[in-house]
Amino acid sequence: MPVLRVALDLPLHRLFDYVDADASTADVGYRVRVPFGRGERIGIIVEVGETSDWPLDQLKPALAVLRDLPPLPPAFFRLCDFASTYYQAPLGEVLLQALPGGLKRVAPPERRAGRKTKPPKFHPPPALTAEQHAAVEAVHPENGFAVHLLHGVTGSGKTEVYLHLIARQLAAGRQTLLLVPEINLTPQLEARVRARFPETEVVSLHSELAEAARERHWRAAFEGAARIVLGTRLAVFSPMPDLGLIILDEEHDPSFKQQDGMRYSARDVAVVRAHQAAVPVLLGSATPSLESWANAQSGRYRLQTLYQRANPAATLPTVRLLDTRKLPLQEGVSSHLVAAIQARLERGEQSLVFLNRRGYAPVLACAACGWISRCKRCAANMVLHLADRRLRCHHCGFEHRVPHACPTCGNQDIHPYGRGTQRLEAWVQQQFPEARVLRVDRDAVKSRKQWEAVLERIHGGEADILVGTQMLAKGHDFPKLTLVGVLGADSALFAADWRAPERLFAQLMQVAGRAGRAELKGEVIIQTQYPDHPLFSALVQHDYPGFAQGQLAERESAGFPPYAFQAMLRAEAPEMAEAIEFLKTAAALPVIGEHPDVLIYDPVPMRMARLANLERGQLLAESAARPALQAFLPAWREALEGIKTSSRLRWHLEVDPLEF
Ligand code: ADP
Ligand code: ZN
Ligand code: ZN
Repeated sequence: MPVLRVALDLPLHRLFDYVDADASTADVGYRVRVPFGRGERIGIIVEVGETSDWPLDQLKPALAVLRDLPPLPPAFFRLCDFASTYYQAPLGEVLLQALPGGLKRVAPPERRAGRKTKPPKFHPPPALTAEQHAAVEAVHPENGFAVHLLHGVTGSGKTEVYLHLIARQLAAGRQTLLLVPEINLTPQLEARVRARFPETEVVSLHSELAEAARERHWRAAFEGAARIVLGTRLAVFSPMPDLGLIILDEEHDPSFKQQDGMRYSARDVAVVRAHQAAVPVLLGSATPSLESWANAQSGRYRLQTLYQRANPAATLPTVRLLDTRKLPLQEGVSSHLVAAIQARLERGEQSLVFLNRRGYAPVLACAACGWISRCKRCAANMVLHLADRRLRCHHCGFEHRVPHACPTCGNQDIHPYGRGTQRLEAWVQQQFPEARVLRVDRDAVKSRKQWEAVLERIHGGEADILVGTQMLAKGHDFPKLTLVGVLGADSALFAADWRAPERLFAQLMQVAGRAGRAELKGEVIIQTQYPDHPLFSALVQHDYPGFAQGQLAERESAGFPPYAFQAMLRAEAPEMAEAIEFLKTAAALPVIGEHPDVLIYDPVPMRMARLANLERGQLLAESAARPALQAFLPAWREALEGIKTSSRLRWHLEVDPLEF
């Protein structure tokens, strides 16, 4: 009797056996409905054989092999196998997370065909600049796998390079996978792709699509109808029969890292996928991740550089540092910045004031007794949101009304401390009563529709001063924007997280890149107490390579990634003692002695030690060699699974962690 080895979406590192009299090896890759516990589940057939580790007469029959789709191809299994092994995630979880929801449902909903949208108006491409041309010519899909790092300053026309490469793929009859960090923030990119290729089926794949649409798009990619797939990190797994090229835009962006479930880096998976499929992968950024930059420096990745802005009339903005130690500030804003905004108002140009902290103030406090608005569930403060008079925890979402008096001593004189975008917006409006001030952050702009409306208002010149967070930093062209003011950047300079400078530099380069994208010259004013800091000096000179070199030297001497390879074991429980106890046991497992190349640190509380009523600890495993770490992890994970824990304790392993 044929035995089906079935992958199910369960946190278990094993497959499940069922029998099916009619099955054959041709059924590998089909979905299958099987009994499980008291219910039924949808799994994926990974193997069909004659034997099982279980007595055959105890195996249950499968209920139905689902052949409504072609079987999932070997390439899909190869990629998921890699992810399962590399990230220590159960194969079943990896395989099934890659499928759209409807295909995993025992009782799938009725599906109607999607509406046909009418083809957009064709926009002919501009003639490439010499630098763009060289970048396009450097990619040779006929030569198989290669990783290209496209380093191009903001506005240098990286997108145009992508579009030309895609055109070549289309002409060669191959599909392109274009991955972006957050699709909602880049409606312009999707529109540009559709307008360039009006005759081509382009589908988007991201988590905010309605389930039916996501399934339709996924199928179109899988069946080959869609020739261009534009997606966020989850799309990196979608099967594409004619895949010829993978492009990752803003490759440094932390959103390519999945932070729960299987914690994977879509950038790294994309590189592996390209290798397995023997196709090129292009990573693009104005501020590449230091991992990718190090790979380009060592020659593992091929570097293409766009030094100039593509539009010859647009030059890079002038970056000026304002030393706030010597300047009087009002609401944190210097009179120089106020004057610069005033000048833009008079010329009918736009200004952007960047403050990467939303809310009115980060904390509310009582001066009489020292009470502060802490979240009772997290090791964090509740942020004051005056717009709807709420205190809100940005970590767990807990919120309540703003108290009228101090909850501890009854003092009515409680005050907001510090500054967020709402407070800044109010002050800016007060300074410039006739100006149209628009705040752009995740509180003001919650949906894609709202975001598109906001972009339209900015483009239509309906705003004079923008106050916003990093939402505004990403890839938009605002032709009338000529001034960017940056507030509150200093806190990241000395953060305990050693990746903070890398993120800050990328963010500031990006937001600075919004200024002077068209004919009007742009200016960036950064307020800081540390004008001599090397990060700012590099920024003034638009010198990413210099900044990266300095950071890499520091990382090398400190033994941090990319010069070391890490995995983080995290445990959470109602009491910290329980989490740490588990981590201590984990750090003392005998298997560790068998891997002398792997260093295990001491268990410590996480920086955010308490989140949503759970105390969290972590334990770092590190090695100078990736293979040594990879050899250690499966053995460690198996030993960890053998540790008896209370049901209140949860743990997970994260390979190549980005946050500590
Ligand atoms: P990036 O993705 O590097 O930020 P974009 O591809 O969005 O840059 O290009 C920036 C601007 O320059 C856009 O307005 C784009 O239309 C324009 N542009 C790009 N390439 C060219 C070119 N070869 N000639 C003229 N304009 C160009
Ligand atoms: Zn008080
Ligand atoms: Zn909280």
